[in-house]
Amino acid sequence: MNRDEIISILSEDNPVKTEELFRRARAVRAQEFSNKIFLYGFVYFSTWCRNNCNFCYYRTSNTIPRYRKDASEIIAIAELLAESGVNLIDLTMGEDMAYHKESFASVFDLIQEIKDRTGLPVMISPGVVEHSWIDRFSDLGTEWYALYQETHNKELFARLRTGQDYDERMNAKLYARDRGMLIEEGILTGVGESVADIADSLLEMGRIAARQVRVMSFVPQKGIPMEQVKKPEPSQELKIIALLRLLYPKALIPASLDIDGIKGLEGRINAGANVVTSIIPPRSGLAGVAQNSMDVDEGGRTVAEAAQILRNIGLEPASAKEYITYLTMLREASS
Ligand code: SF4
Repeated sequence: MNRDEIISILSEDNPVKTEELFRRARAVRAQEFSNKIFLYGFVYFSTWCRNNCNFCYYRTSNTIPRYRKDASEIIAIAELLAESGVNLIDLTMGEDMAYHKESFASVFDLIQEIKDRTGLPVMISPGVVEHSWIDRFSDLGTEWYALYQETHNKELFARLRTGQDYDERMNAKLYARDRGMLIEEGILTGVGESVADIADSLLEMGRIAARQVRVMSFVPQKGIPMEQVKKPEPSQELKIIALLRLLYPKALIPASLDIDGIKGLEGRINAGANVVTSIIPPRSGLAGVAQNSMDVDEGGRTVAEAAQILRNIGLEPASAKEYITYLTMLREASS
């Protein structure tokens, strides 16, 4: 599919054609993954951040309650998630200077401990960090480095991620890939991008060989400069998910519970996603990223809830073994 075709599909608002797009995306997923869907546990362990992204609730200028979980709490949550049946532990943080000051030593210990105790693959989402720290992630066998540009239009990037360097961010990701880590790239939709910008992003994700590719709808939140920006039409995110599936049949494509909670899962899966992300144990005192409280404490973002929804539409949660086998295949294809 070329840029013009992607733009044309994104500009189309005929519901019959959109439904046909989703049907094609599901068919491609079934061909590659049969009826299996992967499940990721989410541990957002520090909401402190030095940056001031205009779309983010946790931007440094927002005066909100914040937390930094200690190692024993993080490990306990990871173990709970593993017991509940997730396939991966996603360790996410803001660019928290407390960890930068200690050269990430406690994060490295955490990764090692979680891998030892759960036996599960780990994704680290630390923001932009020094290359020598990425070397250490790789040496520890950390499977994934997640770092999202959110847009690949450099002017829009400068407006969204104020004061940050586009190339530095991209280079950190490419360095992780070249050190043998799998990389996740992502965009936000509804942040002032054009359909041409989205098409460029989707193609760029392929060029950089991102093996997990995600789109999330922007959610306006209190206290941020973009508080008054309207949430985009839900169909936009779904169409982008379907396009990603058609462009990259073997990719891991998240259906995040962070935007609409558990009720938004079925639509995203029906658009071609194959990973349920942002699963959180209830009452763990954790926040979401795109929305700080969506279904988090109510227990609506668990493996049991997600598995039920998947089974209702003829799909099955994958086992940890199936996920590890899949990652092995991805890494062999990447090397
Ligand atoms: S998006 Fe990430 S880097 Fe930007 S302010 Fe939020 S937590 Fe920090």
